[in-house]
Amino acid sequence: MNAHVTTKAPEQYVPIPEVKCVGIIGSGQMGSGIAHVIALAGYEVRMNDLAKERVEQALALIDRNLTRQVSRGAIKELDAKAALKRMSYAATYADLGDCDLVIEAATEDEAVKRKIFAALCPSLKPTAMVASNTSSISITRLAASTDRPEQFIGMHFMNPVPVMQLVELIRGIATEEKTFAMARRFAESLGKTIAVSEDFPAFIVNRILLPMINEAIYTLYEGVGTVDAIDKSMRLGANHPMGPLELADFIGLDTCLSVMQVLYEGLADSKYRPCPLLVKYVEAGWLGRKAKRGFYDYRGEKPVPTR
Ligand code: NAD
Repeated sequence: MNAHVTTKAPEQYVPIPEVKCVGIIGSGQMGSGIAHVIALAGYEVRMNDLAKERVEQALALIDRNLTRQVSRGAIKELDAKAALKRMSYAATYADLGDCDLVIEAATEDEAVKRKIFAALCPSLKPTAMVASNTSSISITRLAASTDRPEQFIGMHFMNPVPVMQLVELIRGIATEEKTFAMARRFAESLGKTIAVSEDFPAFIVNRILLPMINEAIYTLYEGVGTVDAIDKSMRLGANHPMGPLELADFIGLDTCLSVMQVLYEGLADSKYRPCPLLVKYVEAGWLGRKAKRGFYDYRGEKPVPTR
């Protein structure tokens, strides 16, 4: 990860007083990035996942990314060490019982998320706020699987979290103004800028970005261009920093497919039909960078196109 940019120097962070401890459920690409910025901003972080090794892997990755930030002079070694110390493993939801905010960043699957919220809420204190980092799923529907829809909100961080400035905030139908205000101040305390989206499938960023990626996959599927030609065209011809297929691999092809399915089903418009080639890659387990294979093969020294 190119994690050398933080939007603020750590000494400029001012944690908001209502939040001392933040729980993170799901310690994959996003959960680890979110934990990284939250700990660096001065909050305690408890990380949960299906297995302890996944949290250990996430902590090792965060350690490497913090070290890289130190070597580039973006943060001080002391701040990196303090951030690491603020992070710990939460084996059960009971370990999140004193958290003021819990951010869910588990796999993009509504059934998985609903199950998490139903099991999590009884362990939380009544004042705790719950947020989902979902890329596409209805915040109102997810809120309905909690005991506190008023204190539930969508907080959609961007990948990689330490680098990207934006956090989309999405109110569900029941989200209280107090919850929204706190989420906004919390995001700003991390040095992020917010954009507000209504609760429509895939919100703003992915409503626009994912159909473009899906179209790039159709372009490949129909043989209009190779992986290399498509990515080069968009990098050099549209000035995108990454080609769309490279970006799809970076996001994760399972996440891309889930978002397209939510758009297709939620908006009932055939223009959002997931490309069959995307489905095939996901079925093969070629999920992109995190699986070391997607539209590119990452197992060697340099990424090699797989088509
Ligand atoms: P990922 O596959 O890297 O990580 C998901 C993690 O969730 C895995 O470690 C998995 O073990 C864990 N998990 C699954 N079920 C769980 C459960 N019941 N309890 C605890 N942990 C569980 O995926 P990711 O890219 O980090 O995406 C996570 C969320 O963030 C998704 O909702 C996704 O849509 C969203 N998101 C992703 C991106 C992106 O670019 N990848 C950007 C913004 C938001």
